Amino acid sequence: MRLYNSLSREKDTFVFPQDRPVTLYVCGVTPYDTTHIGHARTFLIFDVLVRYLRWQGAEVRYCQNVTDVDDPLFARAERDGERWQDLAERQTAQLLEDYRGMNILAPTYFPRASAEIGTMIPIIARLIELGHAYVVAGNVYFSVRTDPEFGKMARMGYDELLLTANQRGNNPNDPRKRDPLDFVLWQTGNPGDPTWESPWGLGRPGWHIECSAMATRYLGDQIDIHGGGADLLFPHHPCEIAQTEPVTGKRPFVQIWMHAGLVWLDGEKMSKSLGNLVFARDALREHSADTLRWYLLSQHYREDFIYDRAEVARAGDAAQLLRTALEVTGGSGLPLHFEVPRSEFAAAMDNDLNTPTALAVLHMMAGNMVSAAAEGRDVTACQAILRDLAVALGFTLNA
Ligand SMILES: [Zn+2]
Repeated sequence: MRLYNSLSREKDTFVFPQDRPVTLYVCGVTPYDTTHIGHARTFLIFDVLVRYLRWQGAEVRYCQNVTDVDDPLFARAERDGERWQDLAERQTAQLLEDYRGMNILAPTYFPRASAEIGTMIPIIARLIELGHAYVVAGNVYFSVRTDPEFGKMARMGYDELLLTANQRGNNPNDPRKRDPLDFVLWQTGNPGDPTWESPWGLGRPGWHIECSAMATRYLGDQIDIHGGGADLLFPHHPCEIAQTEPVTGKRPFVQIWMHAGLVWLDGEKMSKSLGNLVFARDALREHSADTLRWYLLSQHYREDFIYDRAEVARAGDAAQLLRTALEVTGGSGLPLHFEVPRSEFAAAMDNDLNTPTALAVLHMMAGNMVSAAAEGRDVTACQAILRDLAVALGFTLNA
């Protein structure tokens, strides 16, 4: 199987581990708002990856974190006069409900950052010991100059790295930093924010260290596949590499880095900050899980996805054809054979998870079966194959 690796910028052959399960880590959400289709598409893609790996006979250990130590969560809780823990709890429960609604499998491990502070502190301490991090007035920063390969995944020069980091939450004007691109490992935070005890005083972790800690704790020093949305290409994922590799002493931290394109609505990126959101639970009121799945998989995962409400209905027709083909009763005529489409399906999925082609194969099979059944041919064996492939993609086959 070949998967596009954002670090090598090539479709790399995925090396299946011989003596342990495949490990997958996907950066999860900050639970302060309901799951929107942009998030849902990312998690749906990794759901399909997990299902397909299992379909091929692999065992998969999948960890997805909950970023419940993060500024937007604290800000929202304060705005609404609510305990941040209660907000996080409610939104995490909603996320799991949205997953069930969309037939997205729950991850094997679903750790919350707030419960993993004790995992993060030793990593930060070790980075200081190794000279990769420094302490200023209760804050700990990672020194990017100590890593000559810092930000390699982004393929940008220093100025562009800094500009991008600034657009995504970096504070270049923090006078305690040695370099404006240095990032926070531990911080005293804003007044009123929750804090935890640490060797550097009361404070809380930075966002990037949360994922290094949870990924290595649950999946090991080196993991097979690490995924997330394309907005994590920089700085989040390069920061994870910079923090993790010196501490474990093992390279590479990750075999394949996978990034899902972003979702657009009405000409803009669907995001909480812009407020142009389609929530998963609203979409599920209008459409079945299968319709949404067909629609969201109809473009390749690495491409940005333009969500078009009118197109969702068209996907509903395709999902219906799938069900019809599985329900038709053929005759005792010449049996229909599907060995070729089955290998075409696998070839498409093995080629960097090419779901549009895989869906086209399913669609063609379903159409042929309906016609063949009408001509009195035996479609029983084909129905078993189609059902197997549809389930491998996560279709429920319920209306
Ligand atoms: Zn992460």
